[in-house]
Amino acid sequence: MKTKNIKAFGTEAVNVPLHSMNIKRRELMPHDVEMEILYCGICHSDLHQIKNEFGGTMFPIVPGHEIVGRVTKVGEHVAKFKVGDLAAVGCIVDSCGKCEYCVDDLEQFCDGGVTFSFNSPDKHLGGATYGGFSETYVCNENYVLHVPESLDLAAAAPLLCAGITVYSPLKHWQAGPGKNVGILGIGGLGHVAIKIAKAMGAHVVVFTTSPSKVKDAKRLGADEAVLSTDADQMKRYIRKMHFILDTVSAKHDVNTYLHLLKPNGSLVLVGLPPEPLEINAFSVVSGRHSFSGSNIGGIAETQEMLDFCAKHNITADIELIKVQQINDAFIRLQKGDVKYRFVIDMTSLKK
Ligand SMILES: [Zn+2]
Ligand SMILES: [Zn+2]
Repeated sequence: MKTKNIKAFGTEAVNVPLHSMNIKRRELMPHDVEMEILYCGICHSDLHQIKNEFGGTMFPIVPGHEIVGRVTKVGEHVAKFKVGDLAAVGCIVDSCGKCEYCVDDLEQFCDGGVTFSFNSPDKHLGGATYGGFSETYVCNENYVLHVPESLDLAAAAPLLCAGITVYSPLKHWQAGPGKNVGILGIGGLGHVAIKIAKAMGAHVVVFTTSPSKVKDAKRLGADEAVLSTDADQMKRYIRKMHFILDTVSAKHDVNTYLHLLKPNGSLVLVGLPPEPLEINAFSVVSGRHSFSGSNIGGIAETQEMLDFCAKHNITADIELIKVQQINDAFIRLQKGDVKYRFVIDMTSLKK
């Protein structure tokens, strides 16, 4: 297969800082779209992967899966995009297309295994897929999203992972009018979750350990914000919540929050704490509570989320950086020192 050399930012090993490198992209197949990458968000899972914290990182690695750009070339059979269109690529770039889950627009559960936008076996070129910290992306049109023109492109990039990660469970568990929805943690995921749950019509209560974020939660649209370290405040919410979205990526006591659920309520994990969490039997047995999880969403639902965000003018709160600042950004991300998502201006790669 013919390939093209492009510039990217990546690394060959856990302890090597990210740096400029050349990678190959395939020449277009009939259903492929090529896009020039304009912006790419930085997700916590990029950090996990470059540090090999989930195991199985394939080096060299080029992270990035919140990709927004403009179509520069299309294959001869591409019907959904034309040159000049805005386009985006999120976590999923391929799947079998035939199994019951792919047929149901749930590619994230594909029986054959999905191909992720980076650090996934590349079916066409061998080795690993390379993500969005790069000049261009090439992908089958069925996995490319349309970006509504009204959205701020840089601030829309985080919707491709953070946005769908929270939209999918909020929709599945029917956040909406008459529902008390708790959001646990205000970071990259949590701050977008507040905006989306509010736009869905839910009564949004944010739980945070940080006094400074109590104020920010209100600015982001929360109806109430609770300092979770204050036992008296917490007591008032016992048996009050229909649903809690848990976005915390560090070890924490979920039992405290399971007690805040109404009978039949669900607590859904979308954060990825590296250590196991402990659950007391009574936290779920009493009140028939459910403890569940959710991970990203399918392509059709990702498009639906982008259109929903355009309709309600929702984007992420971002700090725009140049690609040369990437290693500092990862250090700050590790400390939680970002409000609330870093996005890289990928045109800086040309300099
Ligand atoms: Zn992500
Ligand atoms: Zn499949």
